[in-house]
Amino acid sequence: SPRPALDLEDLAARIRRGERAALARAITLAESRRADHQADARALVQALLPETGKAIRVGVTGVPGVGKSTTIDALGSRLTTAGHKVAVLAVDPSSTRTGGSILGDKTRMARLALDRAAYVRPSPSAGTLGGVAAKTRESMLLLEAAGFDVILVETVGIGQSETAVADMTDVFLVLMLPGAGDELQGIKKGVIEVADIIAVNKADGDGATRAKDAAADYSAALRILSGAGGAWIPEVLTISGREDMRLDVLWDRVVACRDARERAGELKTRREKQQVRWMWTMVEARFRERLAEDPRLAARVPALERDVASGELAPTVAADEIAKVLGF
Ligand code: GDP
Repeated sequence: SPRPALDLEDLAARIRRGERAALARAITLAESRRADHQADARALVQALLPETGKAIRVGVTGVPGVGKSTTIDALGSRLTTAGHKVAVLAVDPSSTRTGGSILGDKTRMARLALDRAAYVRPSPSAGTLGGVAAKTRESMLLLEAAGFDVILVETVGIGQSETAVADMTDVFLVLMLPGAGDELQGIKKGVIEVADIIAVNKADGDGATRAKDAAADYSAALRILSGAGGAWIPEVLTISGREDMRLDVLWDRVVACRDARERAGELKTRREKQQVRWMWTMVEARFRERLAEDPRLAARVPALERDVASGELAPTVAADEIAKVLGF
C-alpha cells in the first residue's frame, strides 16, 4: 500500500520543537540518494531557514589516532553540562570505500552518545566529497533549527575534506600529535592555511614536554604558513582530551576566534560566501550528473576520449566539440 505523503509542515514544526525522532527523520531524508527524498529535504531546509544560523560551527580535523573522538567526547560533555546543545557531524568521503565511517561514531563517543543534550551522527556514507559535504551542511541547518547551538564537524583531512569542512564552519580546529620534528614535515600546507587553532593533544604524563616542544614548532610553522590578514591570528595550545586538561581554555579560544570575527564583520561575510559557494557547488554537481547521462554525449565521448588520449585531437578542440553537441 502506498505510504501517506510526508507532511513537511508538521515535520518542520516538530523539528522546531526539538523532537529527536523528527530530526532523525529529516536528516535521513537529507542523506538519502533518492531524488524525492532530497527534494523533501530541500523544502524542509527552506521552511526552517529562518531558524538556522544561530549555532557556533566548529570544524575539527586531525590524523586517525590523534584523539578527535576522545577530545570531542570530553569537550562536548563539558558543553552540555554548561547548558549547550551539542551536535557532532562528520565528513568522510572515504567511508564509501571502507563501508561505513569511523568518524562521528557513537561507540567512539561513549558519553555524548548517551547524553540527551547531544546528537552524534556519522558521515553520510555515499558519494563524492561535494555530495557528502552538501548532506552534512543540510543536517547542520536542520540541527540548528532544532535548537542545537554548538555544531562540531569532524573530518580526517584526507584529500580536500578539511577545506570542505573549513568552508562550512566559523572556526577551524586542528588536532596534532606531540613529537614534532619528522611529524612536522608531514603537515599539509593546506591544513595549516585553514587552521584557526592548533591543539597539540596528549599533553599528559610523559607526553607533556614533547607536546610543548611540538607546540613551539607549530607556532613557528603557523607564522610562516598561515593565511594573511583577518581579525583572528591563529593560536597554538596543548591539551589532553583523555585527561580533560585545558579543554576549557580550548573552548575559550574557539569562542574568542568566533567573537573576533563577528566584531570585525568577518563572520557575516564568511557565511555569506560559504552559502554562495554552496549554491554553485550544487549547480556544478547537477551539470556533472546531466553530462554523465546525456545521450548525445554518450554517442560521441568514447571516440573523442580515444582521439584525445592518442594525441590525434587537441583536448581544447574536443572540448569545443562537446560544447557544440550540448548546444553551448
Ligand atoms: P581519533 O582517531 O582521532 O578519533 O582518536 P581517538 O580519540 O580514537 O584516540 C586514539 C587513541 O589515543 C586512543 O587510544 C585514545 O585513548 C588515545 N588518546 C586520545 N586522547 C588522548 C590524550 O589526551 N592523551 C593520551 N595519552 N591518549 C589519548
